[in-house]
Amino acid sequence: MPAAFSISASDGPARLGTLRTPHGAIESPVFMPVGTLASVKGVPQHILEQLGVQILLGNTYHLYLRPGHEAIREIGGLHRFMSWDGSILTDSGGFQIFSLNELRKVSERGVDFRSHLDGSSHFFTPERSMEIQIALGADIVMAFDECTEHPAGRERARESMEMTARWARRSKQYFDEHKDEVPWAGEREGRQSLFGIVQGGMYSDLRRESAERLLELDFPGYAIGGLSVGEPRELTREIIASTLPLLPKDKPRYVMGVGYPEEIVEYAALGADMMDCVLPTRAARHGLLFTSQGRLNIKNARYARDQQPADPKCACMVCSRYTRAYLRHLFVSGEALAAVLNTIHNLAHYLDTMSSVRHAIKLGELRAKLSGTTPVSEQTS
Ligand SMILES: [Zn+2]
Repeated sequence: MPAAFSISASDGPARLGTLRTPHGAIESPVFMPVGTLASVKGVPQHILEQLGVQILLGNTYHLYLRPGHEAIREIGGLHRFMSWDGSILTDSGGFQIFSLNELRKVSERGVDFRSHLDGSSHFFTPERSMEIQIALGADIVMAFDECTEHPAGRERARESMEMTARWARRSKQYFDEHKDEVPWAGEREGRQSLFGIVQGGMYSDLRRESAERLLELDFPGYAIGGLSVGEPRELTREIIASTLPLLPKDKPRYVMGVGYPEEIVEYAALGADMMDCVLPTRAARHGLLFTSQGRLNIKNARYARDQQPADPKCACMVCSRYTRAYLRHLFVSGEALAAVLNTIHNLAHYLDTMSSVRHAIKLGELRAKLSGTTPVSEQTS
């Protein structure tokens, strides 16, 4: 059985759900930290567990190049390789290859590309992406798609969306024929799940058509891809708002590659169940901290003698122990610990944000939370 999804409460289009994978139950809406190379940069797995991370994202393109999916398969899959017993999702490799620009050539059969590491030639097809993702053994794997560039004219976006639809069919066929070859088959209850990805550029009607074509294939979950590719944030929101209602209510909906803390709250309110983004981890390595009071640039000289924690309202292991003055010192001194502590705090902030979203959905107060007001009932009690 693929991952089972159940909804226990809803608040407008937002839902409180449980997604059961072979590696555990995930409470949604959920934020998934990105562990590109089988590592959330700078943060060991036992700390991810302490932070309450439920599911990690791994990147197929990167793991295929290094250490190679065959090596990971032999070791028993990505979970065992990285000693992570929680759930894992892998992307299809499509987005990373798309980011290679001059190094790739797309045809109906698949994509020719050169490795960013050594320039060697590789060829990905929907079948190959599935083969690699089955070898990696993530709980949730993604259909191979073409991420349409931005800006793209309507004709170009249509062609790309249609190719993604044909590739989704090929992905599903290969996956269905080989899904029992996952390295942990027989050791765990349940199977890998394959999700489809809606494309269509920034055209709502193409997104609709993409969703309709994917629904014919009856995936156990659906993602909205091709966002955060340089379009204005308003447009990102518009596409998410118009596409989410086209996806089945009883299946998980995953919005790929978003966003800032205030955006993930908004997308959850629109009905997104899963989101991932490199922002909290990448920004942390550049000294940018997300806090309950907004963004804080830790390298700023004004924090040199600041005895407060990064975020006085945050209960994370970094904020409960270290001062802004110390975090700033680590950062400007180029200490490796700076990236570690900043990343832990930012992840805690994102995870706490989602946890408070889930709480608000349970209470039916998500909309009030969004507008920043407390409902009358609570003010008077
Ligand atoms: Zn903190």
